[in-house]
Amino acid sequence: MTYEQWIEQHKIKHQDIMKRLEHLSDREIIEYFDFENMKKNEPDFCPLYETNTKCHEMEHLNCYFCACPLFRLGNMKSFCKIESRFGGEIVSPDGFIHQDCTKCKIPHKVSYIEKNFDRSWENAMREVIVKNK
Ligand code: SF4
Repeated sequence: MTYEQWIEQHKIKHQDIMKRLEHLSDREIIEYFDFENMKKNEPDFCPLYETNTKCHEMEHLNCYFCACPLFRLGNMKSFCKIESRFGGEIVSPDGFIHQDCTKCKIPHKVSYIEKNFDRSWENAMREVIVKNK
């Protein structure tokens, strides 16, 4: 699956959940997306839920902004909009530079999600795909 295909599928899953949560406040929605709650109530949202595996080891991992609104995917490389000091690079044999977010927890922190909250995940992710880099 390409990243573009994944993002399309994930958008639909996110929209389906958000339709059911429309009546909740922003804060309640963010709480709902806590890893522990999602694992129980939305088992199909992420394949890692089945094995109780967190993508990042942190106490209050929040899944609302998975993947990351600051991630950028271009034709020649992927990169981080804010050049997070926790980010890295992996170069594949074909020369493509992959942004490595393994050590970065920014988009999974409640404080970041609250500050940048958007009920439309699609809108929050609108700058992720870039064509000219
Ligand atoms: S390094 Fe952090 S902020 Fe940057 S794209 Fe990756 S997860 Fe997002």
